[in-house]
Amino acid sequence: MTTKPARLLVVDDDVGALTLMWAALRKAGFEVSLARDGEDALRQCRASSFDLVMLDVDMPGLSGHEVCAILRGEAGPLLPILMVTGMDDLASVERAYQSGATDFLAKPINWALLGHRVKYMLRGHRTLLELQAAESNTAAILSAIPDLLFEVDLDGRFLASYTARANLLAAPQETFIGRTVGEVLPGEAALEFMAAIEEAHRQGQSTGRQYELNLRDGRHWFELSLARKGASQGVATRFIVLARDITERKQAERKILRLAYFDALTKLPNRQSFLHRVEREIKRAAHNGTRLGVLFMDLDGFKAINDTLGHAVGDQILQRAANRLRNGVRPADLVSRPAELEIRGAEPGSEVEFARLGGDEFTALILELKGPEGALVAAQRILDLMRRPFMVEGRSLMLTASIGIALYPDDGLDASSLLKHADTAMYHAKDTGRDNCRFYSATLTEVAVRRMELEGDLRMALARGEFHLVYQPLLDVVTGNIHGVEALIRWTRPGEGVVPPREFIPVAERSGMILDIGQWVLRTACADAARWQRDGKPLGVAVNVSALQFKDPELVAMVKEALELSGLPAHLLELELTESAVMADNDVAMATLSALRAFGVRIALDDFGTGYSSLSYLKRMPLNTLKIDRSFIHGMPGDGDSGAIVRAILAMAASLGLTVTAEGVETREQADAMRALACDSLQGYYFSLPVNANSVPALLEHSWPSEPG
Ligand code: C2E
Ligand code: CA
Ligand code: CA
Repeated sequence: MTTKPARLLVVDDDVGALTLMWAALRKAGFEVSLARDGEDALRQCRASSFDLVMLDVDMPGLSGHEVCAILRGEAGPLLPILMVTGMDDLASVERAYQSGATDFLAKPINWALLGHRVKYMLRGHRTLLELQAAESNTAAILSAIPDLLFEVDLDGRFLASYTARANLLAAPQETFIGRTVGEVLPGEAALEFMAAIEEAHRQGQSTGRQYELNLRDGRHWFELSLARKGASQGVATRFIVLARDITERKQAERKILRLAYFDALTKLPNRQSFLHRVEREIKRAAHNGTRLGVLFMDLDGFKAINDTLGHAVGDQILQRAANRLRNGVRPADLVSRPAELEIRGAEPGSEVEFARLGGDEFTALILELKGPEGALVAAQRILDLMRRPFMVEGRSLMLTASIGIALYPDDGLDASSLLKHADTAMYHAKDTGRDNCRFYSATLTEVAVRRMELEGDLRMALARGEFHLVYQPLLDVVTGNIHGVEALIRWTRPGEGVVPPREFIPVAERSGMILDIGQWVLRTACADAARWQRDGKPLGVAVNVSALQFKDPELVAMVKEALELSGLPAHLLELELTESAVMADNDVAMATLSALRAFGVRIALDDFGTGYSSLSYLKRMPLNTLKIDRSFIHGMPGDGDSGAIVRAILAMAASLGLTVTAEGVETREQADAMRALACDSLQGYYFSLPVNANSVPALLEHSWPSEPG
């Protein structure tokens, strides 16, 4: 392929030089025009275009520098201009560049090389032109891309930004170049962006990370694609980042999600999403060993309203019902609040989630249920909410609801059987007269109802004086005498008789009533013991303190007050705590125990051996006494395992300087066995049942032989 020869213009006032150049360049294959001075050169350049101009510096009239500057101005930056200067005229070379020359050639000229020199210059120039074309091409492509395109380094510093859609930028383009992702984007978005850089650094690329930005025209979602640039020597790693605006896709996804998982009418989750949710929570509950409640609610009489007043009215009722559920049964409603004692829940902190299955059927999921009564409380709260009249189109409409309750794990181990069983229970509730709730399992209904009734009556018990204390003696093994008593509470419930503490203490704990009851126990026991002391029979008194009481910041003050009111010396009071209460919060427990010990009160760890106290933990606790749980005494002396455990406890207690009491000693053999093991003190039916306060002094007359026989 023959290409057109390049056209050169050679400008020199020296005809000899012109002729030589002309000959040399023609020989090298160029088409050469000549000019004798600057004006002539400019005229020729304006008349036709050249691929290169060679200018002598030294000319009469316009100097080479002047011609160069004018040419540069007229022909633009792309015309190669070669200045011919004197050999050692450095200043002239300097000026040549200043006036826009592309390169220079020093005299004397090497004629043999001139052709090559010009050829190389033209070739370099052509490469430059191609590069510029490529760049403008790239710029055109980039501006056609609807995405944001950045170049960043490993630190997340923006090195360049190419984008035609500046409205999508978090900050004006000119302000963020040179700043880092962390400085330009808000926290969450910056974290995602940096994670993508990190990933691209490791794997060469990163796709799919998304972030949300609040821009002037609303919220936008972006998805990142990053590629690591081929690192060249001496250049730090860089990344090309493409951020695509995926806001529309996101909105579409959300809409699909809403359609798939939410009920359009009430905006509550639908059956599908409820079942998913229940499955998820079942996994968690199985892992944590907690209970879940699934409630199935159906509106009584809804169908009649729908049929007679029309669907529009029906729809409004469903929407209102959903709103009542949403707003009326928040977790806070299940927490003790004096104003709503009758409907307050037994489960502080429980969460409830609702869904609409379709028609007038709603469901609720109650998380972290501690007892069945928690579900019952929630159900009754819902019944209350539905009983209020619905105002629709100027009419006041009355409805009620029927609710069925199924519990995990009691009534089923998977979501669909729980739902099915709650549904079945709901039909039972409807059968038994509507405006009603039922558990799937009848016994649970009984348990829950019983606890709720107990709870109701317990609220009155203190004011009505239905509690009294009984005392069970503690025998000193060495002397054979009684050295103290444990105070045990009794509740005489009207119409029922004595309710065992194992049944009502948990109810009192869950509702928080144990705090008031505990204070009463403390004051009464201290008062009784102070009286015995005044009568010349000093006797230690042990009082049980529940976990909730122990957590109460008022406990220390309450104990102090009971001692002051009664006048009982502190060393005669021992507080019995369970391991779980003491273990719950290490630092707080430690502080409470130390405060109690500081004014002389003794501390016993109750039911010891059933919990999980570690030896190192016990060592740090300021305790006085361990009470070995009666389940270990029960097996004595025959059961080898119990014997081994009891021996181990005694050895450990001895090393820690703790006194040990054996609980639940029922037989002579058990008493002898414990004596033989050098247990300090014994308690149990073998010595005495718990007795009334009045009978305590008489017990002190009695002494038990300290030697077996
Ligand atoms: P606890 O603190 O382990 O109390 C010992 C329980 O064992 C008492 O049951 C007592 O009557 C019973 N007992 C005593 N000797 C024997 C025996 O030889 N054999 C058997 N099988 N049992 C024996 P009680 O009075 O029914 O109290 C049960 C639990 O209720 C107590 O266990 C304690 O945890 C709690 N409690 C009792 N009174 C109070 C109180 O005033 N406040 C608090 N917070 N809890 C109390
Ligand atoms: Ca006890
Ligand atoms: Ca005990």
